[in-house]
Amino acid sequence: MKALETCLDGDTIAAISTPYGIGGIGIVRISGARAEAVAQHLFHPKRPIVHLDSHRLYYGHIVHPSEGSVVDEVLLTVMRAPHTYTREDVVEIQCHGGYLPVQRVLELVLADGVRLAQPGEFTQRAFLQGRIDLTQAEAVVDLIEARTQAAFRCAQRQLGGFLYKEIRRIREVLKDLLVTIEACLDFPEDDLPDPDLKGLLTQLETGIHDTGLLEATYQEGHLYRDGVTIVIGGRPNVGKSTLMNVLLGQDRALVSPTPGTTRDFVDGHLSLGGIPLRLVDTAGLREVDEEVEALGVETAKKQIAGADLFLLLLDATVMCHGRVEEPEEVFPDKERILVVINKMDLVDPDTLDSQRAGLEHLPQVKISALYQRGIEELKERILSLLLKGRIDLDSRAVLTNVRHHCAVVESLKALEQAWEQLGQDEPVLELVAADLMVALRSLGQVVGETTSQEILDRIFANFCIGK
Ligand code: GDP
Repeated sequence: MKALETCLDGDTIAAISTPYGIGGIGIVRISGARAEAVAQHLFHPKRPIVHLDSHRLYYGHIVHPSEGSVVDEVLLTVMRAPHTYTREDVVEIQCHGGYLPVQRVLELVLADGVRLAQPGEFTQRAFLQGRIDLTQAEAVVDLIEARTQAAFRCAQRQLGGFLYKEIRRIREVLKDLLVTIEACLDFPEDDLPDPDLKGLLTQLETGIHDTGLLEATYQEGHLYRDGVTIVIGGRPNVGKSTLMNVLLGQDRALVSPTPGTTRDFVDGHLSLGGIPLRLVDTAGLREVDEEVEALGVETAKKQIAGADLFLLLLDATVMCHGRVEEPEEVFPDKERILVVINKMDLVDPDTLDSQRAGLEHLPQVKISALYQRGIEELKERILSLLLKGRIDLDSRAVLTNVRHHCAVVESLKALEQAWEQLGQDEPVLELVAADLMVALRSLGQVVGETTSQEILDRIFANFCIGK
């Protein structure tokens, strides 16, 4: 990745902005001072035109400048700065899709004094030119990668600047506070009235409250962006594969009446309440002699360790007769277990004594996977365990990205430290000011104002070429 300072050195960049492969159209995008000159040089409009209007589509051909041969039939748009994606002059050439047309047009563009763009460089330019902040730049990737409607909505709102504005608002409150404190520090000998410590404390509490609210949105917000892994575990033959198939709505996992047939794990994806879910069906959890199956059990344990939620599936008919799996044996984190009692169609609910199984302290759902009973309730319980207190995605700024969350947590820690200092009988205002500066810097990292070069480079390197 090219260093930031050199990105705005005035060179013109180009890349294919559509996916590599067969398609209806392919777009070559050019950004920078030379963009229009290149277009003028290579593009031959169908009807003679003296001046290419901005933001208008023209039909014509890309013609090889020295050979005079037609390279492709295209539509071309010139978009003059500043109302463009990068805030520079941008030209987009819509070629025929497929490998060759876009590739050949790009080669001609590059031969005309234009450099191939780095991954994410168009968006990076938009950021460096101040058209968008870092959260908006990152939202572009989230938007492209969104797998559910909710994830898409979160990304759209972040791209619309909701998170940026909220961070800016909190930073303004903290900046005001810092200015007041610094005024007290700068002129101690002046006859300034004693600082209104109570007023400062209230102002700081507002900052802490708002930062805390924002921080709390991450718990749910990141689920939409990152998705969740749910592992279905339990002894062989309890109905794991059957449940997996019911939840996925397709026959992904092998269902067999012989114990121990799911020897490795099988996974599938679905969306539940807007959250992208990865569902993993593990091999039967039991001690085995057979080598292959033992491997499956090992894989199962690894999958379980990495799960956000563990569905411990139990067979109601077995529960009626004796010992069941001790959940802690297989999944020590009780906060993330949901006990699912299956095959309820085979037992009389009254005789099922879950108390005896020692599971009364864990959330439970009773189902029949085979007859698809209790599945809606199961889904609701899964959602309520994942989302403790739902947030309204449309009415507030939501944190979805771990980088943003870490910075907000840092900021909150510094603010709480400042609050403790300010609450002392004789607070050391220098310390309060220092903590406020840390908090401001951390929040600034979210929006890209105080983000290091290295981090910026790493963020943009995750983009695809042409974006
Ligand atoms: P796994 O080994 O845990 O993956 O179990 P399977 O999903 O392969 O199921 C084992 C057997 O139990 C199969 O014959 C299923 O049809 C049966 N089974 C699964 N769920 C139910 C259920 O809710 N009721 C009944 N009666 N049978 C079930």
